[in-house]
Amino acid sequence: MKANKPFLFVLGTRPEGIKLLPIVWEFQKRKIPFELLHTRQHAELLDTLLEKHGIFPNYRLAPHPPALIAAKSSMLSQTESMLDADRFSALIVQGDTLSALCGAEYGFFHQIPVVHIEAGMRTYHKDNPYPEEIFRQTISRISRLHFCPSEDEAKNLAAEGVSAEHIFTVGNPFADYWQALPQPDVAPKKQVLITLHRRENLPFLEKIFEAIAELARELCELEFLFPLHPNPTIVTQAKEQLTGISNLRLTGALPPEEFYRELHASEMVLTDSGGVQEECIFLGKKVLVVRKISERRTDFPFSSLVDPENGKLREEFFALRKKQIPDAPCDYYGRGGASEKIVEVLAREI
Ligand code: UDP
Repeated sequence: MKANKPFLFVLGTRPEGIKLLPIVWEFQKRKIPFELLHTRQHAELLDTLLEKHGIFPNYRLAPHPPALIAAKSSMLSQTESMLDADRFSALIVQGDTLSALCGAEYGFFHQIPVVHIEAGMRTYHKDNPYPEEIFRQTISRISRLHFCPSEDEAKNLAAEGVSAEHIFTVGNPFADYWQALPQPDVAPKKQVLITLHRRENLPFLEKIFEAIAELARELCELEFLFPLHPNPTIVTQAKEQLTGISNLRLTGALPPEEFYRELHASEMVLTDSGGVQEECIFLGKKVLVVRKISERRTDFPFSSLVDPENGKLREEFFALRKKQIPDAPCDYYGRGGASEKIVEVLAREI
């Protein structure tokens, strides 16, 4: 370690928490100084997670207005007034959220080296995922060190001209998060687990929910469990179209451990979430990804991609359900140890 100043973690959502906590634990283990800024992008979901693990942010922004531009300027200006940029040796962000973008821009303006976890994911479609594709491309332009979950992301960055000595393929730290917790001991259920939250899927919600309702009514031997993301449009629309179906249960967002237990137990998953897609890849769980395009691979024997607009959700669901899948675990994101590798590099490079 060349620097004695603390690292700053910037995060504001539950998936950032799940992927950054194992790195925080590794810092604690090695007694490397760090501080943590909670941007409050999704305050409650992240609060619950951090509190559960006894991690208390050093800095906590006030809530932001919902609209993107207003939220971004509120996040950046609050960060600027709250932090003393000279305190930090480097700044760590994860993924493609508004919090990650603002963290990276704060680092850029103050010339603090930025470290990007889960770097290099791309669709190369600027409207899909919106606004995340441009957020993560911007973060890559700013970052000094890029930690990629698989060789596919490392190749993207190399093709964009990022120097090879700054790209590290380490696997995805979500695997470390789950491996650090007691392994779920659950009997398989005849259950389909559903999550949907993407902004670019909102125009197709009615169509997606129609297909889900049809599947649930047709497949009465299966239970459909749908924990709802707190986005009010999703909650209202789901309640309108999906209540009163006896084998379909709507709940609030589940705490991560409970969600992961349900994921383990389920026969199939239908989702537009990147994190859930990754967890299915890690577990070799059948997953139907409801998106026009994905930055993550969907050509595993147990996964497929369905365009929410083309009316083929039901057909793709049945095709995937029929598939025989290998039992062997899938090593695409490694089998753990990403956080240790990341911190080893940071201790050497910063
Ligand atoms: N998750 C959770 N409770 C839920 C739904 C998801 O804890 O009710 C977890 C899930 O296991 C995964 C992460 O949240 O680790 C994914 O977050 P989300 O779908 O919000 O975002 P994305 O990964 O698409 O950015």
